Amino acid sequence: MAADNSSAFNYRTIAGTDRLSRHALGRAVDINPRENPAVYPDGRIAPAGAVYRPGSPGTFTDEHPAVCAFIERGWRWGGDFDHVRDYHHFEK
Ligand SMILES: [Zn+2]
Repeated sequence: MAADNSSAFNYRTIAGTDRLSRHALGRAVDINPRENPAVYPDGRIAPAGAVYRPGSPGTFTDEHPAVCAFIERGWRWGGDFDHVRDYHHFEK
């Protein structure tokens, strides 16, 4: 994520748990993580130093065409998650 790589399959657990991530099942995609960081309730942001700036190029909001395309196909967007706002993450 720190290198701003978009990615999909990655056999790993969900951060801070021993549960397999949907990335481990090939059912998740991360896009533009520096423009769309994960923002935690305590204010932490990953990748470190990233800033979520809606309206900046490559930054997702609930009206962005890429977000709409995933949702129309039955995927969930991490920007809609209740705990962490995982703006780069899509899963099905
Ligand atoms: Zn992800």
